[in-house]
Amino acid sequence: MRLSAVHRALQLLRRLANRKSTFARYSGHLLPAFYFIATTSRDAALRQSALSAGRERARYWKQQWYRKPRRLDAGTVLDEIGAGYAAEQLGIPHRRIRRDLEAAIARYSPRELLGFDPVSEPIPRNIPEDCECGLVNERGRRRCRKCRRRLTARSRYEVWYYALISVYFCGRYGLRLPASYADVMKLLPTLRPYPRSRARCYRDAIYAVTHIVYTLNDYNRSRLPARLLRRERAFLKASLPWAIRQGEPDTVGEILDSLAGCGCTDTNPLMVRGREFLIGRQCQDGGCGDEDDEYGRCHSVWTCIDGLRDYRWR
Ligand SMILES: [Zn+2]
Repeated sequence: MRLSAVHRALQLLRRLANRKSTFARYSGHLLPAFYFIATTSRDAALRQSALSAGRERARYWKQQWYRKPRRLDAGTVLDEIGAGYAAEQLGIPHRRIRRDLEAAIARYSPRELLGFDPVSEPIPRNIPEDCECGLVNERGRRRCRKCRRRLTARSRYEVWYYALISVYFCGRYGLRLPASYADVMKLLPTLRPYPRSRARCYRDAIYAVTHIVYTLNDYNRSRLPARLLRRERAFLKASLPWAIRQGEPDTVGEILDSLAGCGCTDTNPLMVRGREFLIGRQCQDGGCGDEDDEYGRCHSVWTCIDGLRDYRWR
């Protein structure tokens, strides 16, 4: 049952990735999704299906790049690095794009790329969320420069895991940033103890912790020894019933594959409960349908696949 749900969801992910506008915006997430599913799944048919979708989309990504030159600002360059890393791993090399990305990344400071400099400052509390009007406001602003709406600040967990993912993919792709994975990891103790479920930043803390697992085990290529992330494992276990109560397949999916990645087995009652929830939530089209925006839709399909599939641990 899990496997057929996963196959259905992968078909949906392929359809979403084939939409021109969706792919243009989220290739930095879709290509890594195909790449990881293609290389870490236990089921051979699933690997094959993700591999052919990923390779086809990576060729298309490369072709589009040569067709129209991109403006690489501090935000988009990191997305493209995720796409580039996955494309290369999927067997689509791209020397010129790599050079473009290398040159682009050298133009920006860590503060511009990550929102702060992990080498020299603590995780800031004053980076605003993107405004509803679409404007990205600079650090410290409380009202939008364009529409004057009140802005909320991003939680430290969100700021930190964005930096963590960014330095991870840069490192894997072989690009050097002035801040390293180790520099960002050094700030982790300042995020502990992890918050309780009543806290506003609780969901961000869950995503921060799942990304500790992903970046340490290369998105579930290997299984981490249970003793390594004791606190994180306990936090994720406690957060699963919360995510189920909230009715959030995206969060449940992330928690499940992270727990699997740090040693929880299929027969663990929490794993069983979480997977039953995901299967129960799956719609006819293969999605779990908890998100109404485009990004949320792509992302939740990916996390549900990851929460439900079996891994081929190294
Ligand atoms: Zn605004």
